[in-house]
Amino acid sequence: MLQDSKDKRTYDAIVIGSGASGGWAAKELCEKGMKTLVLERGRMVKHIEDYPTASKAPWEFEFRGVIPIEKRSGIGAANWGREETLHWKLAEDEQPIIEEKPFRWFRGYHVGGKSLLWARGSQRWSDFDFEGPARDGFAVDWPIRYKDLEPWFNHVETFVGFAGNRDGLPELPDSIVMPGFELSCIEKYYSDQLKEKYGNRHLIQGRCAHLTDPQEIHKQQGRNKCQNQAMCNRGCVYGGYFSSNASTLPWAEKTGNLTIRPDSVVESIIYDEAKGRATGVRIIDRETGEAMEFYSKIVFVNASTIASNAILLNSKSSRFPNGIGNDNELMGKFLACHNYRGKGNAQFEGFLDKINDGRNPGHAYVPRFRNVFKQDTDFLRGYSIGMSGGRSMGSDTKGLIGDQLRDNLLNQRPNDTWNMSAWMQGETIPIETNHVRLSTDQKDKYGIPKIILSVEWTENDDKMTADFLQQQTEMFEKLGFKNINVEDTKSPPGSDIHEMGGVRMGKDPATSLLNEWNQLHHCKNVFVTDGACMTSTSTQNPTLMFMTLTARAANYAMDELKRQNL
Ligand SMILES: Cc1cc2nc3c(=O)[nH]c(=O)nc-3n(C[C@H](O)[C@H](O)[C@H](O)COP(=O)(O)OP(=O)(O)OC[C@H]3O[C@@H](n4cnc5c(N)ncnc54)[C@H](O)[C@@H]3O)c2cc1C
Repeated sequence: MLQDSKDKRTYDAIVIGSGASGGWAAKELCEKGMKTLVLERGRMVKHIEDYPTASKAPWEFEFRGVIPIEKRSGIGAANWGREETLHWKLAEDEQPIIEEKPFRWFRGYHVGGKSLLWARGSQRWSDFDFEGPARDGFAVDWPIRYKDLEPWFNHVETFVGFAGNRDGLPELPDSIVMPGFELSCIEKYYSDQLKEKYGNRHLIQGRCAHLTDPQEIHKQQGRNKCQNQAMCNRGCVYGGYFSSNASTLPWAEKTGNLTIRPDSVVESIIYDEAKGRATGVRIIDRETGEAMEFYSKIVFVNASTIASNAILLNSKSSRFPNGIGNDNELMGKFLACHNYRGKGNAQFEGFLDKINDGRNPGHAYVPRFRNVFKQDTDFLRGYSIGMSGGRSMGSDTKGLIGDQLRDNLLNQRPNDTWNMSAWMQGETIPIETNHVRLSTDQKDKYGIPKIILSVEWTENDDKMTADFLQQQTEMFEKLGFKNINVEDTKSPPGSDIHEMGGVRMGKDPATSLLNEWNQLHHCKNVFVTDGACMTSTSTQNPTLMFMTLTARAANYAMDELKRQNL
């Protein structure tokens, strides 16, 4: 009887987390015939049927979308103060954390994770990024280079579907793309002028995970062309943008090899001392509070950077008293994120005969230009810049009735000049003291140790922010913008929603936790392929890297199983 129950809880593979990276692990493993269990702590979210606000008009919301300040609460919710996305909000008591230093941790705890909330900006890394730590002497050298990932970038991009252009820039390798969204007239102007005035600085259409020309592979996923509604973070009924829910998870499900178990809070990974490998995963059922175990030949850890660190640190055994694979006690350390402190905007007094055309769900992007080909500054690495140029539209309704009111409502007119906003996305240098660890005396409601976050900006980040402020002001000025306003928002780490590291990849088990295939050096059947594995952070939006590393590692894992090495 007991054996029978154990057999029912035994799979070929377990994937922890169903977000952007976990969805990819599930897809690759199921496609190749592996019976795969995805353990997800949050509730089920079914594509289309569980997007309650997807098609709601503004007047259908109690507060027309904007939540009154006094009603705003909740931790880690990606609600951005809007009613449309309240269904993604995390309950106050779900996972309270201890901020040793101020940190903003945005979580998406439901099936699909943050793949339902992300802004979909996706650029490839180049060797300028992979070679960064070795060139500039920080962290450890990446055990891989661009050539190792290039076929896997191709693999992921073909399936996901990206809109963008082939820009031919060595610092930002071209992706496989469908036609990009149009830049607005002010963005086009900025792009032309930037090139003319600086030569080596470029403003391009940011590549984003939207379907502008769906191919057969996307139609097979049941996805359709992006409708430019720009209401993506409610959940998209067209599958116009990539999410696990619209894409990888249903694809995996179709194979008949996938089991998703929502409401399963993973507590730790089980390590078998005799076998010298992981044999499964312990969970707490969120609804019943019951502790359960599931078993498998391999485990993929994809709970998102900080949560994955916590699960691994909590996976203690006599062999691994400090967390599974953590012989060098570096796990949780060298946590890093992107520096989003610098912001700016300015106005342009021209193109008054033009209006915003369409709703571009992506935005413009200036790839890193500082310290790329040589060291130009007194700080290490650099920043990319997200940019968006538009003109707000308005309707004059004051004192009007009848035909004139209707005419004004239907034919909105520009009500101000063109505005261009800019936000930096800086590479931060991972340092040992920036870390996540587990509390030794405080637990959450599931009996799992609370997470302590201790991350702060460094002098390098301060200098980089100052450089952005100076450079962005200069660029606005040289390009003829007025009313320039740039500032250091001093936002705390985590505000970038791109946290990475803690379980970094490297060549040497003495200084890293994972090898070049994302396997724990000391427990080879555990693969960590979300942001926790990142050795450094680069300046590109990171999720494409997480998905690509996951697809590559999953295929390697299956090859190793065939070779009976795991
Ligand atoms: C508003 C916003 C905008 C963003 N924009 C971009 C962008 O433009 N480009 C970009 O590259 N990135 C962007 N990101 C970041 C992107 O969403 C993440 O990098 C990506 O989703 C990470 O994938 P993941 O699989 O590691 O984690 P997630 O997608 O967060 O998935 C992790 C899953 O694991 C589950 N989980 C956590 N703990 C446990 C546990 N103990 N047991 C079981 N399950 C668990 C979670 O519930 C979740 O479903 C954005 C994020 C936000 C919030």
